[in-house]
Amino acid sequence: MQPTQSTPLSMIPQILTHEFVEFMPDQLEDGKLYVSITCSVVVHKCACGCGNEVVIHLSPSDWKLTFDGETISLSPSVGNWQFPCRSHYWVRKNMAIPAIESGRNKSGFHTWLERLKNNIKSKKRANKKRRPGNDRLNN
Ligand SMILES: [Zn+2]
Repeated sequence: MQPTQSTPLSMIPQILTHEFVEFMPDQLEDGKLYVSITCSVVVHKCACGCGNEVVIHLSPSDWKLTFDGETISLSPSVGNWQFPCRSHYWVRKNMAIPAIESGRNKSGFHTWLERLKNNIKSKKRANKKRRPGNDRLNN
């Protein structure tokens, strides 16, 4: 099957937050992982920004959650094939990182990582601007 649209996920680096809850709220915030240990479930809005609700079931044969005291990681990756966006990403230390599939161009992944780092930096540094016009084009 040939994808007819570019994946929106690769355009949007996502920094996530998390909240431990007993029951899921009616309204989910973007970029937030809701973790219910009681229900063994993690719910969040798709990391591509499409707004679809993703329900992750924690069990020995499904997903595993790692909480290191500060951040959440999930294993294996989250593949939203049922949504139009067909996003596929890893949740690692409260970040949604697009999964690389065989055949996909890997330089795209590094570009994405670069953007992700810049996004983190810009969040930390608020409006401070650095290195203006530092994008050389090599053809
Ligand atoms: Zn999506």
